Amino acid sequence: MTEPTATLFIDGEWVASSSGQTRTVICPADQSEVGVVSEATAEDVERAVLAARRAFESRVWADRPAAERGDFLLQVADTLQERKAEFARAEAFDTGKRLVEAEGDMDDITACFRYFGKIAGQNPGRLIDAGDQSVISRVVHEPIGVCGMITPWNFPLLQAAWKIAPALAAGNSFIIKPAELTPHTTILILDVLDRLGLPAGVANLVLGDGAVVGAPLSSHPEIDLVSFTGGLVTGRKIAGAAAQGIKKVALELGGKNPNVVFADADYEAALDNALNAAFMDSGLLCSAGTRLIVQDTIAERFVDDLVARAEGIVMGGPLEEQAETGPLISKEHRDKVTDYVQRGIAAGARLRTGGHWGGPEHERGFFFAPTVLDDCTVDNPAVVEEGFGPVITVETFSTEQEAIAIANHTEYGLAGGVWTSDSGVANRVSRRLRHGTIWINDYHPYLPQAEWGGFKMSGVGRELGPTGLEEYTESKHIYENTEPAVTGWFPRKG
Ligand code: NAD
Repeated sequence: MTEPTATLFIDGEWVASSSGQTRTVICPADQSEVGVVSEATAEDVERAVLAARRAFESRVWADRPAAERGDFLLQVADTLQERKAEFARAEAFDTGKRLVEAEGDMDDITACFRYFGKIAGQNPGRLIDAGDQSVISRVVHEPIGVCGMITPWNFPLLQAAWKIAPALAAGNSFIIKPAELTPHTTILILDVLDRLGLPAGVANLVLGDGAVVGAPLSSHPEIDLVSFTGGLVTGRKIAGAAAQGIKKVALELGGKNPNVVFADADYEAALDNALNAAFMDSGLLCSAGTRLIVQDTIAERFVDDLVARAEGIVMGGPLEEQAETGPLISKEHRDKVTDYVQRGIAAGARLRTGGHWGGPEHERGFFFAPTVLDDCTVDNPAVVEEGFGPVITVETFSTEQEAIAIANHTEYGLAGGVWTSDSGVANRVSRRLRHGTIWINDYHPYLPQAEWGGFKMSGVGRELGPTGLEEYTESKHIYENTEPAVTGWFPRKG
């Protein structure tokens, strides 16, 4: 990069915004300045989209053998491991999350690039038996073209990796726009792609505001696919804009994820994981287990223990070694979570712990104490809405059928957990839950080999797994008649 604010990457060059405008990024744990980056304009986005289109039409990447594209992704993975400390620090300071969590994210990100690196050449298509020996019929998978990618601030590079790795594996060009609050690791990954020799124009980066910089990526006629991870409200806007151009859309939206605990579960494991499910990373996970649905016979003891454990969670910034969870992303976000909790209480939920911003030592950051809302009903706004903070709502059930009904009583369908020692119950309940990922006697692990995505309003399409690669391809049927003949359908007259 030639100057510190040349942080847009367009057509193989690091450039500043055409307006010269910049944005200061702050760490939400203490409001210290993390860096100053360029704020792109609509003109910059236009240049990036056209560069991606030119690169795609030149076939410079699309026509590389798939195995070679896979090797490139494996090199990206190796570089990420070498530069892990640098990336983790950047992620931790942008998001405020603990360094150890950001380091864990880096391992997941590396695994994602390795997975797509390995399967890049494994989607060659298939031969079809046309029922006629003179016909050779096959279905091939081709890159979809130019991809617009829009990502959120909670797992900035992980969410970017889930899009960049399969898009490159399949031979596409792309333009990515990270969340304006957390741009630094996306800048760094573009640096890796550039240094490893990705041809100019294949990967482009624009930074800035959603409405100005993100919106054109969902409406631009030169974009073939828009892949978005973020909130439901934005997802609706993006799907609406994309529909005008009949663009393919992939949406990874929010969740209101049930964590169902039966009385026969391993008590200590279920309790410990109920805390992880909801409070890890300050609850800023789309898959956070924010709805605890616990069997009535153990509910009182379970929730008492949960409250006691939640009160012991230590909040702090990236480098505070004793910290167990970090802040929310911004003042605005903390205000939203505060309002969400207050509305839940006003509708009848009982505040058992939390609901405040922490002690005086947390004043400089946007912290929110782990919160438990007891005695919730399915229609309480805290149960219905995604609060996106460290807040558990508690509901109880008596029968398996009731547990399933409560867990499915949501417009979302991203993920959920089931805790029981009865494998019959585990199987039945996991099959009946209308959510895209179900953990039995665990919470949170995911595998790059397994599809990730939501039912209902949690989204459209899947990331990761073989389907995550297919999302970035078009299927084409090629039908060849090796013995061309007159059909006689319209007989020659005269
Ligand atoms: P958000 O929707 O506010 O923003 C996400 C991205 O969209 C940002 O880059 C933002 O700048 C951009 N954006 C905003 N308005 C836009 C517009 N009109 N057009 C185009 N782009 C626009 O979401 P957020 O607050 O950053 O992230 C939190 C949300 O993301 C939560 O709802 C969470 O559940 C969800 N999420 C889902 C997954 C998943 O895998 N399903 C993963 C992580 C986060």
